[in-house]
Amino acid sequence: MEAFEYTPLQGRVVFGRGTLARIADGVHQLGCRRAFILSDAHHAEGAAAKVLQLLGEHVAGFSTDAAMHTPVEVTERVISDLAASDADCIVALGGGSTTGLSKALALRTDLPQIVIPTTYAGSEATPVLGETRKGEKSTMRSMKVLPEVIVYDVELTYGLPPAMSLVSGINAIAHAVEALYAKDGNPVTSSLAEQAIKALGRALPLIVADPADRAARADALFGAWASGSCLGTVGMSLHHKLCHVLGGSFGLPHAETHTVILPHAVAYNAPAAPTAIDRAARALGADHAARALFDLAAGNGAPTSLREIGMRESDLDEAAAAAVASPYWNPRPIERDAIRTLLDDAFFGRRPS
Ligand code: NAD
Repeated sequence: MEAFEYTPLQGRVVFGRGTLARIADGVHQLGCRRAFILSDAHHAEGAAAKVLQLLGEHVAGFSTDAAMHTPVEVTERVISDLAASDADCIVALGGGSTTGLSKALALRTDLPQIVIPTTYAGSEATPVLGETRKGEKSTMRSMKVLPEVIVYDVELTYGLPPAMSLVSGINAIAHAVEALYAKDGNPVTSSLAEQAIKALGRALPLIVADPADRAARADALFGAWASGSCLGTVGMSLHHKLCHVLGGSFGLPHAETHTVILPHAVAYNAPAAPTAIDRAARALGADHAARALFDLAAGNGAPTSLREIGMRESDLDEAAAAAVASPYWNPRPIERDAIRTLLDDAFFGRRPS
C-alpha cells in the first residue's frame, strides 16, 4: 500500500425507494422548522408539489427558477425571496441545476441544505460550486456548499427519460474515472470509483432498454452518489477541464459534452496512467476503457461527436488554446497539438483506436 491522505466529507445519506415521504423528519432532524423549497419547472407540478404537501405549514417559500450552470442573476433574485421568507433551511429537489442553486444560496446564507437528486449529476455529494456570471463560468470549493443531507429516492428517477439517463450517467462515470488517476487519489476513493463505474456501466444499457427497470435505476442512483463522492474528495483532470471549457465558453450541453469527451480524455491519459485506466476497463467488464466508454454511448444512442451537440469546427482552435491555458493537473502533460487532435477526434466522433 502506497502512502496516502484522505479527508472524508461530512453529511448524511438516505438511500431507498419512497424516502421522499420522510422529508418532514429530515427537516426536523436538522432542528429546522421553516424550509425554502427549490426545484425546476419540470418538477413544479409533480415531485416538488409533493414536497410542498409533505412539509405543509413548514414551507417558508418556493422557487422553480433553477437554471443550468447556476447564473448569478437567478441566485440574486431567489435570495431576496429567501431572505424575506425567514427560512431556516433549504430543501432542493431536481437535477444538478437545482442543486447548484441550493449551493449558491447556502454559500451566501450558511443555511443547511437537504438535497433530493433526480438525475445522476452527483453535485449533491461535493463541496464544489460552479456559477456563471455574464456568461463566464467559475468554480469554487467550500464546505459551506456541501449539503448536510442527501435524500435519494429511486422512484424519482423512474421518469428520467432514457436518453437523459444515459448522458447523465456517463457524466457521473467521468467523475469516477478521473478519480482513479487523480493526483490526490487514495484507496478509499478509488474503490468507490470502481464500484461507481461498475454500477453505472451495468445499469445504463438496462435503463435504456427498459426505463422502468427498478433494480437498474437503484444501481444507477447508487453509482451517481459514489461518483459524486469521488468528485467531492479528489481533484479532477483533463476531462473536466475540457468539459468546463466547452460548456462554459461554447455553450455546449453539460452531460452530453461529458459523454462525447470522456472516451477521448481516457485515450489521451491511458499511456500515462495505465493501472488506473485498466481498473476502469475492468469495472466496465472490458479490455479497453476508452473504447468501452465510446461503445456505451454509441451502442445506446447517445451523441458521440461534438458536431452533433452544437460545436462549430471553426471554434476548435480556440477551445484547444483555452484548454491549455491554466490547465488542471493531469497524469499526462497537456500538449497543445495533442489536445487539438483529441478535440478533432471528439468533433468527428471517431472511436478511440
Ligand atoms: P439539470 O438539473 O439542468 O437537468 C436537466 C434536465 O432534466 C432539466 O430540464 C430538468 O428539468 C430535467 N430533469 C431532472 N430530473 C428529471 C427527472 N427525474 N425526470 C425528468 N426530467 C428531469 O441537469 P444535470 O445534468 O442534472 O446537472 C447539470 C448541472 O449540474 C450543470 O450546471 C453542472 O455544472 C452541475 N454539476 C455540478 C457539479 C458540482 O459538483 N458542482 C457536479 C455535476 C454537475
